[in-house]
Amino acid sequence: MAEKIGFIGVGIMGGPMARNLVKAGYPVLVHDAVPTAVEALNKDGVAVAASSKEVASASDVVITMLPDSPDVEAAVLGPDGVFDGARPGLLLIDMSTISPVVSRRVAAEGQKRMVRVLDAPVSGGDKGAIAGTLSIMVGGDAADFVAARPIFEALGKTITHCGPHGAGQVVKACNQIVVALTIEAVSEALVLGSKAGVQPELILEVLGGGLAANKVMDVRGPNFLNHDFTPGFKIKLHRKDLAIVLGTAHEYGVSLPVTALVDQMLTTLVNAGKGEQDHSALLTHLESISGHVVGSGRD
Ligand code: NAD
Repeated sequence: MAEKIGFIGVGIMGGPMARNLVKAGYPVLVHDAVPTAVEALNKDGVAVAASSKEVASASDVVITMLPDSPDVEAAVLGPDGVFDGARPGLLLIDMSTISPVVSRRVAAEGQKRMVRVLDAPVSGGDKGAIAGTLSIMVGGDAADFVAARPIFEALGKTITHCGPHGAGQVVKACNQIVVALTIEAVSEALVLGSKAGVQPELILEVLGGGLAANKVMDVRGPNFLNHDFTPGFKIKLHRKDLAIVLGTAHEYGVSLPVTALVDQMLTTLVNAGKGEQDHSALLTHLESISGHVVGSGRD
């Protein structure tokens, strides 16, 4: 019989991921701190629990998909949390993007209670979550990775065991550097090209055919062109990720000069009240410091 899966945190990513597990035939029980977040799932027949503890006590596997490290600590280690309800042998898979240090601590606390823990952050965005094509990077014991693989296959396409506890989060941190700096680079290119009189659609098309081609342009191209910054991935969450990146860099004595600069740009946008917008709204910062809105000045 399929394992019973508890799913905690059903926002932009967790909602569609929980649906894909239902589609794959797993019995799923969901919980979210915000009651409205579970309404749509509940209307479609998915069972809802009142706390993380309740989820854990009824599940063989618990997946968390929460915003940040303190949220995972609260939902897992806190009162009425996963560990309060977990039976020995339960598998906790944290798919949130959090600090590798916190991931390792959660795994160590799990070990004391005979709860197996994997960190398994994802990339591929809301579109990948809906399509079940996420890239999943996993840290933890190889045997637990093998046991969790069928669950990962219901959620993603590229599924990689990266190493011991925290290794999934380290690879995700690397991913977030490349995504943030690519959005920044594409934004600079669009502002320069557009202010110099070339149509932005044409710039994306031409760049997409050469060495500059990248997935950010493919997936977020329409956001840049239409100034549609509905999330997607919120600026405040990408800023959270760069804080994880820079904290990890500090810990290991690594210098990341351009990441630090883009982190400052995201802080500027959060302070301008744009933290809830999609990270492609980084374009608006580049527009603002160049006094040009991409695509303006058309006849
Ligand atoms: P979101 O804000 O849309 O959803 C998070 C959900 O968690 C919310 O519904 C919130 O109410 C709930 N929550 C917060 N604290 C809770 C708690 N203690 N107990 C129960 N529920 C709680 O965020 P999201 O975009 O779905 O992102 C979730 C995670 O996935 C983040 O770590 C993010 O960095 C990562 N991620 C997001 C994307 C993306 O494109 N959105 C892509 C890859 C990774």
